[in-house]
Amino acid sequence: MARTTIALFSRDLRVRDNPALMAAYSGGDRVVPLFVLDEGMVGGRHTAPARIAYIVDALGDLRASLRERHGDLVVRCGGLVREVMRVVREVDASAVHCADDVSGHAGSIRDALARACADARVEWAVHPGVTAIGPGAVMPVGGDHYKVFTPYWRAWEAAPRRPVLPAPGYVRLPDGIDPGPIPTAAELLGARPPAGLVTGGETAARRRLDHWLRSGLAAYDTYADNLAADGTSRLSADLRFGCVSPRETAERAGGGAFTRQLAWRDFYHQVTAAFPAITRRDYRPRRADWHNDPDAFDAWRAGRTGIPIVDAGMRQLRAEGFMHNRARMITASVLCRRLRVDWRYGAAHFMDLLVDGDVANNYGNWQWCAGTGNDTRPNRVLNPLRQSRRFDPSGAYIRKYVPELADLDAPLVHRPWTAPARVRRALAYPPPILDPDTMP
Ligand code: FAD
Repeated sequence: MARTTIALFSRDLRVRDNPALMAAYSGGDRVVPLFVLDEGMVGGRHTAPARIAYIVDALGDLRASLRERHGDLVVRCGGLVREVMRVVREVDASAVHCADDVSGHAGSIRDALARACADARVEWAVHPGVTAIGPGAVMPVGGDHYKVFTPYWRAWEAAPRRPVLPAPGYVRLPDGIDPGPIPTAAELLGARPPAGLVTGGETAARRRLDHWLRSGLAAYDTYADNLAADGTSRLSADLRFGCVSPRETAERAGGGAFTRQLAWRDFYHQVTAAFPAITRRDYRPRRADWHNDPDAFDAWRAGRTGIPIVDAGMRQLRAEGFMHNRARMITASVLCRRLRVDWRYGAAHFMDLLVDGDVANNYGNWQWCAGTGNDTRPNRVLNPLRQSRRFDPSGAYIRKYVPELADLDAPLVHRPWTAPARVRRALAYPPPILDPDTMP
């Protein structure tokens, strides 16, 4: 008898190196590649407009790739478990294949799907694909996950890898199934999507990956921390939504500093798998001495702290749905170590705007910056002025995102409060809310 299987997409919006899709393809005569725009995701707390825009692009691209293979992407909107089970019944599916994931939310959805499939006597199978190596693939002696990155990295480098998979060939849909429309971002958001974002989807992501491996990777070590240089891959959203495979990316990049960053991503995923409360609770509990100052928080969010390097980062975030890693570290450190605002507020603001906003990476890094996470030096506090001079020596990054300071050269651009009163008045830029000159 002909078997129909379902490949349920989540954060693996690609046809190449997709273990869940490949398992569905190999296990069935007919395959339903399915994506559910979950009602909790759209309009919910979890998905920012920037990420909705990316997902919509990615779904259109996935549909085109599947059509080239004579299949289609079936899209449904509504409660995820209800919609999946509706398709299971409609096509009389024998199995549902899906990528495994680590957040608390992802885990409870997968548990609910497992129960619903068991009730319907349908096979439920989870597969790797969201990380280069899965949580639990390497384990410290006597622990359930690595708490410190360096030993994790050593184990990560030596860990066995699954093979990188090709895209499936001919994908055959069951007869009569309606693929359904892909809503536009404007329909989903009830407003125009933000401008200035990267184009989502596997085709654009692979183009970025190829370009990066050819033209950027070799100099990564030299330029990654230079705020004004275009010295990093900008693949974070593509990895976030699985439009490029982390496993394939690591394989093609070889070893070195860039691959080490991919291992950081896996590291935080295995931390999150072990500690799904990472979004709410201190991983390493710390004396709560937060001083929640709404005015300071508003100034930080608006990029109006009067500290140019902080304001440049916060304005890049608002304009592009992206911020350079060094700027993320500086802005986070200033918020929770200098202004002493609870890291949860800062992390939530990043999640509202980042196109790559991701539970494991965002909350893992925020807790690292707040000293409640996996930093082996939890008392580390960055000095924004020293960081500014070191990582944006010419001030080009500041001038790009803080146009009020566009006419200032270094060193004044790092410390506009020291400019003559006449210049300061003309700048229309606020005085600093903290005094960076007296910071240790
Ligand atoms: P590259 O330098 O080219 O690195 C390649 C890839 O490695 C990245 O795309 C990313 O997937 C991974 N990576 C790099 N640095 C880190 C890191 N420190 N931790 C984990 N993975 C890393 N990254 C996210 O993907 N989503 C987030 O929500 C996110 N929030 C962050 C919040 C804070 C406070 C900080 C300090 C960092 C955060 N990062 C997050 C990590 C990092 O800043 C971004 O991954 C990086 O800036 C993306 O740019 P890129 O793709 O050019 O990175």
